[in-house]
Amino acid sequence: MPTLFEKIVQGDIDADIVYQDDSITAFRDINPKAPVHILLVPNKVIATANDIGAGDEVLVGHMMRVAADIARNEGIAESGYRLIINCNDDGGQEVYHLHLHLVGGRPLGAMVPE
Ligand code: AMP
Repeated sequence: MPTLFEKIVQGDIDADIVYQDDSITAFRDINPKAPVHILLVPNKVIATANDIGAGDEVLVGHMMRVAADIARNEGIAESGYRLIINCNDDGGQEVYHLHLHLVGGRPLGAMVPE
């Protein structure tokens, strides 16, 4: 079964895509937690951060660099933002297709709730 995010990557489910290339896709989160909330995903499925292999280092680095480019395009690079990857149950991961949250546009408060 394709993951939800694979369906978005392949265009089978509508999403507000802000960036796409051969290896990654970025789209606006459907339930944004801040004025800017964008998800960056690899086009291929990597289930969790635990599944990032040595061969994925360039891909994951690319996700980080493009996230910074998108932050600049969204006008939040100087005010600041947060990049988040949730992993498994305790991390609050809901979709088992690796994704980097780019969140910003307001002060985000404490990094982790006490
Ligand atoms: P996580 O809890 O880290 O797995 O985050 C999953 C994220 O996917 C949540 O922030 C959801 O709001 C978001 N999400 C779920 N379905 C969609 C969708 N169809 N389009 C865009 N974002 C989605």
